Amino acid sequence: MRIQGKELPIYPEHPVRVVCLEHLERELDDYVDKYEVAPDTFALSEVDEPGLSHSCMVCGAEGKIVLLHVKGM
Ligand SMILES: [Zn+2]
Repeated sequence: MRIQGKELPIYPEHPVRVVCLEHLERELDDYVDKYEVAPDTFALSEVDEPGLSHSCMVCGAEGKIVLLHVKGM
C-alpha cells in the first residue's frame, strides 16, 4: 500500500475502509470491535492505491479518510 509516497506493508487480514468524516467515528469503533486493533488513519489523498474506492463505504458520499492497519506502526 503506497501511503504518503512510501510503500508501507499492511496486515492483509485487516481490511482497508474508506469513509466520510461523518462516519469516521462509527467505523473506528466498528474496526476495533471486529478486529480488536485500532486502525491507522490517513487522508484519502495520502493513499495512492489503484482500485481503492473514493466513496464512503457507509453512505456513498465523498470519501475522506482511509482506515487500515500498517505493520509496525
Ligand atoms: Zn459516510
